[in-house]
Amino acid sequence: MQNTPFENYKKRVLSTMEKSGMPKEYATPFLEPENIVEGNIDVKMDDGSTKKFKGYRVQYNSARGPYKGGIRFHQDADLDEVKALAALMAIKCAVVGIPMGGGKGGVTVNPKELSKKEIENLSRGWVRLMGDNIGVDKDIPAPDVNTTPEIMGYMLDEFEKINKRNEPGMITGKPLALGGSQGRTPATGQGGFYVLESLMKALGKKEKGTIAIQGFGNVGYYFARLVHDAGYKVVAVSDSKEGIYVPGGIDPVAAENLKSSGKRLSDYDGAQVITNEELLELDVDILVPAALDNQIREDNAKNIKAMFIIELANGPITPEADVILENAGVIVVPDVLANAGGVTVSYFEWVQNRSQFYWTEEEVLAKLKPIMDDAFEKVFIASKEKEISMREGAFYVALERLVESMKLRGRI
Ligand code: NDP
Repeated sequence: MQNTPFENYKKRVLSTMEKSGMPKEYATPFLEPENIVEGNIDVKMDDGSTKKFKGYRVQYNSARGPYKGGIRFHQDADLDEVKALAALMAIKCAVVGIPMGGGKGGVTVNPKELSKKEIENLSRGWVRLMGDNIGVDKDIPAPDVNTTPEIMGYMLDEFEKINKRNEPGMITGKPLALGGSQGRTPATGQGGFYVLESLMKALGKKEKGTIAIQGFGNVGYYFARLVHDAGYKVVAVSDSKEGIYVPGGIDPVAAENLKSSGKRLSDYDGAQVITNEELLELDVDILVPAALDNQIREDNAKNIKAMFIIELANGPITPEADVILENAGVIVVPDVLANAGGVTVSYFEWVQNRSQFYWTEEEVLAKLKPIMDDAFEKVFIASKEKEISMREGAFYVALERLVESMKLRGRI
């Protein structure tokens, strides 16, 4: 097997089933998606020409509910990556027990080379390519890399124009004025914080440790604020330009104010400038990758000093690095659990759209907590009972739920 994202996913399914004693034949329906929509999107460019872009939607598994997952606009997006991301959405939704299946979409495009109008044309074209494969009871897309609430607004509009009806629940991550949910912006960081607190409680750790966070965007920033307010010491953060290390602790709001006023993280008082690579290897208690995938690999995993890693980014640790970290006793809370607060609040958005009754941010975050706490507990107990990693524990919890639904449908 090659080391592509989709092959990595399949390896994890097979090894979890083997180590946890699930019958091997149950794996079959989880090794390929149920449906793939693929085609070319004709986009009218500003100079009057028409350009073709390749668009995809992978609908992975619908046993527990309609397909759910984001759409990525990226020059490296291809079918293998979209398949892997769709599969991981099926796992993630099942880990937190929400009634959604897994899906993911993509367009192979560098959006930085397109004007705003061309991006709008592309977004509308993606919806036309999908035709009746998407909809509130079928498949509900959302933002992902390089797709925004504004783009979700164009997609909703195109879908409603084609279908001649109001259907806000066909897509999530919308602007509030179009039926978006309160609390969606901080949701992923908030869910990660709930998971960290559960982990510390489960291990009986009372002291609030030191934390390094790679990535200071939506997820990294909200998570940093929450842990700082709870008494943890955030000693390092980074963005695409640089990292900073402040042994006495960083105030995330002050660091964010620097960035939003056009300054750099390195303008932070008393900051030592470090690289992203150095941030990962700092001597801290808790490491939080919250930027990109493939950050901790076979070549640098042995240099990690943190004893706990909370994966807020998707796929920051390669399978080879997983093994090295596990042998070194590092506890990794996997992405399919740690960052599932995002899709959970997207599900809340869908629920609110369907009932046309909207909740406050406090209500949203209060509903998120028991879901994250319960998911953590199930994964933690599974990993202890089966003597497997928390990643395998999360896959185990998800696969058990998926298998049960598939069996009840007579599909396996
Ligand atoms: P953002 O785009 O808001 O933030 C990304 C952050 O990462 C930015 O601070 C960016 O720097 C930084 N960054 C970019 N390149 C690098 C690099 N080479 N090294 C270090 N840092 C870098 O994204 P999100 O916060 O929304 O997402 C972060 C991760 O979380 C992604 O993996 C995403 O898939 C995952 N995730 C997000 C969810 C959500 O709800 N937003 C839900 C589930 C997962 P700069 O500020 O300079 O641009």
